[in-house]
Amino acid sequence: MPGAATLLRDVFGFDAFRPGQEDIVTAVSRGENVLAIMPTGGGKSLCFQLPALMRDGVTVVISPLIALMRDQVRALREAGVEAGALTSGNTDEETAAVWDALEAGRLKLLYIAPERLAAGSAMGMLRRIGISLIAVDEAHCVSQWGHDFRPDYLRIGELRRALNVPLAAFTATADAETQAEIVEKLFDGQPPQSFLRGFDRPNIHLAFAPKDSPRRQIMEFAAARKGQSGIVYCGTRAKTESLARALCEGGHNACHYHGGMEAGDRRIVESRFNSEDGLIVVATVAFGMGVDKPDIRWVAHADLPKSIEAYYQEIGRAGRDGAPAETLTLFGPDDIRLRRSQIDEGLAPPERRMADHGRLNALLGLAEALECRRTTLLGYFGEQAEPCGNCDLCDTPPETFDGTQPVRKALSAILRTDERFGAGHLIDILIGNETDKVCARGHDQLPTFGVGRDLERRTWQGVFRQMMGHDLVRPDPDRHGALRMTEAARPILRDEQSITLRRDTLVSKSRRPAARALVADEDAPLLSALKAKRRALAEAAKVPAYVVFND
Ligand code: ADP
Ligand code: MG
Ligand code: ZN
Repeated sequence: MPGAATLLRDVFGFDAFRPGQEDIVTAVSRGENVLAIMPTGGGKSLCFQLPALMRDGVTVVISPLIALMRDQVRALREAGVEAGALTSGNTDEETAAVWDALEAGRLKLLYIAPERLAAGSAMGMLRRIGISLIAVDEAHCVSQWGHDFRPDYLRIGELRRALNVPLAAFTATADAETQAEIVEKLFDGQPPQSFLRGFDRPNIHLAFAPKDSPRRQIMEFAAARKGQSGIVYCGTRAKTESLARALCEGGHNACHYHGGMEAGDRRIVESRFNSEDGLIVVATVAFGMGVDKPDIRWVAHADLPKSIEAYYQEIGRAGRDGAPAETLTLFGPDDIRLRRSQIDEGLAPPERRMADHGRLNALLGLAEALECRRTTLLGYFGEQAEPCGNCDLCDTPPETFDGTQPVRKALSAILRTDERFGAGHLIDILIGNETDKVCARGHDQLPTFGVGRDLERRTWQGVFRQMMGHDLVRPDPDRHGALRMTEAARPILRDEQSITLRRDTLVSKSRRPAARALVADEDAPLLSALKAKRRALAEAAKVPAYVVFND
């Protein structure tokens, strides 16, 4: 039987567990009695569907709504899992097909409506067919004091006793009385293993930064935490090696780790990491499953993770001991392009690709968030939270500006050049930069030529990155780097919707000369005016003058 991670990927199409899922899946598949409380949207179904595949025999799922059961059965069948439902909504053929599959021993999941348990024949039938697990969805329906009370849920305890198999109960209702009632009615008062932990990991500091010069950014982050154990996640194997070398040259104790290494070498890194203090492992996502170190003090992403779930899982390796831990995630347009093309070029069916784009969008939304990261992150997992005071945006609320007009100008430049160019060329057009490419294509004659002179090149770069982050434009998979407008951009283009963007405040000395060289000569007076303004701003805000304000 393949392991949980393989099934997660191959059957369900997810690259990482959501918060809490892995522990629950492990307990349920081992045959423990489990009560799991997770917010709505947290991914409870997977916590019994995946163990059902790992266990011999049939898992019976009791769920209160026929429509819900039908949806789940359809999704499972589409994923190639043998599942069926016995409900009053079945046609005779459907019921016959479920019986056939049961008799043939093919069925893995059997969904049953609770009222079916009332029929005397159901118990006998279930006893005959080798049930190995009972999963109870929406377990709070057993609570007589709740709004969703379903009298037939009271029969589940009887069923468990009759079959004498483990039971896993799931609900989003977290109040103590309901929990006590569930334990009483479903588990005969014997406390099951309970998973009540929310998703929040308040000791982990969350931070994102636009990629500026990634190696320097990571080196600075590591230098400020010298002697502490940390992980740097990279997008490629080659990068893990070069970055680990750079860290060693910088006086750190660092090594690389990726799936291309010999199993023995990988195990050495794992055990060194677990036992040594202050080792930095520079790794691809292959590093993680074998890691069980409670005092990892920091996790950095040199490249944007794949999805919001992957992000949560990877940063979640830090600070398991509950002591303060820090994270930094770098992201830039190249990451977005890479992640989009990985999804577009993958072999997944169209619906799954849509969902993957959605999960990437959620991560990009987090990267470009204007308010508390934790509120945004937990909100995605269905949990509400107040501003946390332990993220970069709570530390320093971002400066924002009304980006509606710049975005409209950018969209207009994209459309007037037939969606055939990347951000660099579009920015040249917007700021009126007469490069050879601009002139050769006659783009200096466009009405949009020079309409964006009021903003610096770097501000435009931030605008384009945020447009990608908000999924207003997407790289064209067939034309390298070219940006196409998405449906989401239409209301902004029509001036029916506004958009607030953040002003990047990159502490960057290294890139400034290059940026300046790209500004056309006639912009020199503008540039010196901007510089004066920036100095004035810096003085007023009492921040070091090397902070670049992109105005
Ligand atoms: P719940 O029953 O807790 O409200 P569901 O089981 O209906 O949540 O799952 C909510 C959504 O999350 C579904 O669209 C599901 O496909 C998705 N989901 C579940 N687990 C994962 C995962 N590990 N990665 C990405 N998406 C997931
Ligand atoms: Mg559910
Ligand atoms: Zn916060």
